[in-house]
Amino acid sequence: MAAKKSPSFAQAADGEAMAARLASGGVFGGGEEERFDRIFRPGTLDEFVGQEQHKQNLRVYVEAARRRKEPLDHILLCGPPGLGKTTLAHILAKEMGAELFVTSGPAVEHKGVLTGLLTRVARADILFIDEIHRLSATVEEALYPAIEDFRIDVMMGDGAYAESIQLDIKPFTLVGATTRTGLLTKPLQERFGVTLRLDFYPVSDLERIVSRSAKLLEIPCDKDGARALAERARGTPRIANRLVRRVRDFAQVEGSGNIDRKIVDIACDRLGIDHAGLDEMDRRLLMILIEHYDGGPVGVETIAAALAEPRDTIEDVYEPYLLQQGYLGRTPRGRIATKKAYEHLGQTPPSKGSNQGSLF
Ligand code: ADP
Repeated sequence: MAAKKSPSFAQAADGEAMAARLASGGVFGGGEEERFDRIFRPGTLDEFVGQEQHKQNLRVYVEAARRRKEPLDHILLCGPPGLGKTTLAHILAKEMGAELFVTSGPAVEHKGVLTGLLTRVARADILFIDEIHRLSATVEEALYPAIEDFRIDVMMGDGAYAESIQLDIKPFTLVGATTRTGLLTKPLQERFGVTLRLDFYPVSDLERIVSRSAKLLEIPCDKDGARALAERARGTPRIANRLVRRVRDFAQVEGSGNIDRKIVDIACDRLGIDHAGLDEMDRRLLMILIEHYDGGPVGVETIAAALAEPRDTIEDVYEPYLLQQGYLGRTPRGRIATKKAYEHLGQTPPSKGSNQGSLF
């Protein structure tokens, strides 16, 4: 089933660009990205690797909705880019036998765009809004009656003769995705019946994703090669898939034609990805803290300026994994490089009693 694209779909690519992490060396991303996302995208919950608890629950919600012949409850998917939020929206539509309409917060520029989308949805269809935290306040307010009572307020006429009329729309499911739950307003958050937080994937899950993707690309990949690649994928399926594509190039040109540990090491070395999966940008971020600010604390704005990257990119794309892996710490006064970061970068940690406090 093909996803129907909203009229402003082109602008919806914002989030994808943001998700193009590891793009710092110019070795990933590009126009091919979307095509490969489609090739790799699992089509069913069974094919969707990992996140077992969420999958089990989603199966129940889908089955219950089907039995009652009702749309699914509204679902909010949270988590860093590349963990499968868009994929889940596609899968849910398929499992429900419904159409999927895809858009994003910034693409729904005004109420008219939202109205256009909502008047096109049929019963039980799914409207997927990526980066839902970036909806404007007026659009968000217009969304409330649509998701609560399946009606929208439309202005008819102009000037003194303008009047607002209520229009019924078909009961549908809103699937919202956000990388930043903290930026979502409370009223919007509370209108979702289900909230799923996607976590970074363990290496064992990424290994399965790598093997599956290699098979789809018809490139032989041994178990050890899949593991080596999974270890460098930053807990993120999208990065694992990008690495498969790049390592495939190296395997075919400079290797034996197979993905094995040796070619993964060679390719990652050349791409500037270290054994922990950190790339140039990750290391620069940590080095800025260590070299220029004695390990911190440093405000995120300062880090963003030093890296010449937007603050959002730092917070959405770079930080979550560094925090989760314990390279970076968060304090009320800013970010700090942890002992693990110093050790990883071959630097000597400051002595006890320095401003990093308990992390040393
Ligand atoms: P998000 O919307 O969270 O940024 P996507 O759903 O676009 O992430 O996923 C990015 C890529 O990773 C897609 O190509 C998708 O096929 C793949 N992917 C994500 N999650 C999984 C998973 N659990 N199993 C297999 N592939 C996955």
